[in-house]
Amino acid sequence: MKADYICPHCRGILNAGDYIVFSSRTNKGGHGIIMLHQEVGNYTVEKHPMFEYQQGEKLLFFCPMCNKELASDVHENLAKIILIDEEKKEFDIHFSRLAGEKSTFKVVGENVELFGEDSGNYMEFLGMK
Ligand SMILES: [Zn+2]
Repeated sequence: MKADYICPHCRGILNAGDYIVFSSRTNKGGHGIIMLHQEVGNYTVEKHPMFEYQQGEKLLFFCPMCNKELASDVHENLAKIILIDEEKKEFDIHFSRLAGEKSTFKVVGENVELFGEDSGNYMEFLGMK
């Protein structure tokens, strides 16, 4: 699948190779580059071992081009980017910014697709029950 992920602020392309690239910070002052696998529902994460955080810790995700925070308006634990599929259709992708939590939502209009074993945690915030 030839999909691109873009920043909702500057519309810069965030994916390179198999990964989506972010700049990230923790509330404890840690910072680094973090790469999430671009296949929705694949939770492989690549980062430098010097960028440390605990499981469950909340990470801040920023666009590496415009440095704006990629916050979701659905829930404070989620971050948001835009997916453009091969037919140039745009989807909002909301994903958990808690380290290790597997929740991803692909939203277009009223339709929400859920991915990840922890996605039930946010269903009510997406208007689903
Ligand atoms: Zn940007």
